[in-house]
Amino acid sequence: MAKYSGPVCRLCRREGVKLFLKGTRCMTEKCAIERRSYAPGQHGQSRRARVTEYGVQLREKQKLRRVYGMQERQFLGTFRSAERQEGITGELLLSLLERRLDNVVYRLGFATSRSQARQLVNHGHITVNGRKTDIASFTVKIDDVVEIREKSRKIPTIQGALETVEGRGVPNWLDLESGAFKGSIRALPSKQDIDVLVNEQVVVELYSR
Ligand code: SF4
Repeated sequence: MAKYSGPVCRLCRREGVKLFLKGTRCMTEKCAIERRSYAPGQHGQSRRARVTEYGVQLREKQKLRRVYGMQERQFLGTFRSAERQEGITGELLLSLLERRLDNVVYRLGFATSRSQARQLVNHGHITVNGRKTDIASFTVKIDDVVEIREKSRKIPTIQGALETVEGRGVPNWLDLESGAFKGSIRALPSKQDIDVLVNEQVVVELYSR
């Protein structure tokens, strides 16, 4: 499936919830979902047809995939990894998604959106435990230290993002030392740490059909 390169606010309007894809704009009244809370397109305001069970499962999966900006194949790969682990597949899936390096960079406040965070990782501005890591899907584990490389600390987007993190807050499973441009993983994230309301169980049902 090709990478989506259209207007991202349409994705939020399609799912009917804020997916926080546009950085600081998502926190303002300019947010498209605040102004037009109906689905995009010509028939967006028409009465919705009854949604089937499959439709509900599909929408939840799409919502989750769009939050983390993943392609279908990559998302399915993460789901299969969760399935192979011992425990509740849905919760393991959320934990794996939340522990992606690009998400951690965003959650620590080094970027204003996950897509900006992915760029920082891809461009080699991030280290994990002192080693340059440029793989956005890298999964962090407890006690890992994620840091902005010394020579990248003056990048205006990183400095600007750190100023906005105070309003957004850092989740409990992470420790941020903003002055040192680093953060560490203090615990595994749980469902309560996800910033979008999602029913992960129906995603499991979708892939188990
Ligand atoms: Fe656009 Fe962000 Fe609002 Fe979504 S939450 S509609 S990405 S501004």
